[in-house]
Amino acid sequence: MFEPSRCPYFRCSQHLEPSPNFFRRHGHYAPICRPHPVPRFRCKACRRTFSRQTFRMDYRDHRPDLNARLFQSLASGIGLRQSSRNLRLSLRCTELKFRKIARHLRRLNLNLRTTLPEGSRFQLDELETYEGRRNGRPLSVPVVIERGSRYIVWAESATIRPRGKMTPARLRAIRADEARLGRRRDRSRRSVRRSLERAAACLGPKQTVFLDTDQKTSYVGLARSIFGRDRLVHGRTSGKLPRTAANPLFPINHTEAMARDLTGRLRRQSWLASKKRRYLDLGLQLHMAYRNLVRRRFNEDRESPAELLGFAPRRISETEALSWRQDWGGRSVHPLSDGHQAIEAFIREAA
Ligand SMILES: [Zn+2]
Repeated sequence: MFEPSRCPYFRCSQHLEPSPNFFRRHGHYAPICRPHPVPRFRCKACRRTFSRQTFRMDYRDHRPDLNARLFQSLASGIGLRQSSRNLRLSLRCTELKFRKIARHLRRLNLNLRTTLPEGSRFQLDELETYEGRRNGRPLSVPVVIERGSRYIVWAESATIRPRGKMTPARLRAIRADEARLGRRRDRSRRSVRRSLERAAACLGPKQTVFLDTDQKTSYVGLARSIFGRDRLVHGRTSGKLPRTAANPLFPINHTEAMARDLTGRLRRQSWLASKKRRYLDLGLQLHMAYRNLVRRRFNEDRESPAELLGFAPRRISETEALSWRQDWGGRSVHPLSDGHQAIEAFIREAA
């Protein structure tokens, strides 16, 4: 039976440090979308009422039963329109559900992270895609993974300048864009820095940092400034080596290929495309959660990447990943805890 672990209201004294008997049971209500009644509670400190639903990610959703299926569908390379047709939802509803689910998964992914084990090794690479218009609005997407487990630490998009062969039509399109949107800035360095900082946040203060990249010169200075010169071991591989399984950068290349396949908007020669960069970032977050928490590392494995690193005791299903809300950081309910244990307590107990 569900028992609230804390008062859901942020300003209440029972939110940060709840006492064992802070609530009283307060009846229940019968939602239209579920067969079972939902219990309600009243906080003794602030006198406000809430229900089990207040703790759920699908709080206030109209069709919560379709969330897991939509997550699965979007994590399998199917676009928003086709998903909406399959699930008999409107396109608008599908878009809004996608954004809510992706924002939730971003928090879940970050909340479940702890320190990486000794000997972990990062790989960084950038893939290219575009927003809205292929000939004039290119994007660069730095991706950082942990090599052995294939855990994706971070990926985000950044605008870059259009480059390559310029035809008259392409130049016209770029000029029209510049007149309307201003000069397109190169933000890739900033996003590489942010991605490496996410990697640094997963390490203990004295841990040696192993990092593999290609020979792009800017990576050297960035990595040194973020990890510190004395604890960084930076392996650099020539981009001219054949991209086979023997290439030292095969794990990151393979991860990128999988991301392109499972995220429809990253695929080449496809009708799917991101109209706006921020929704590509949400798509990347959704893929990261699927790759890290739900999917096995390799087909012959039983474990997910997060499990191999000790971030989760087992694989998390799509339904479990979309269960408890995650906007309270470490105080959020752990997706594998039957609804009573905060993530920080769950991690402490496991350690
Ligand atoms: Zn309260």
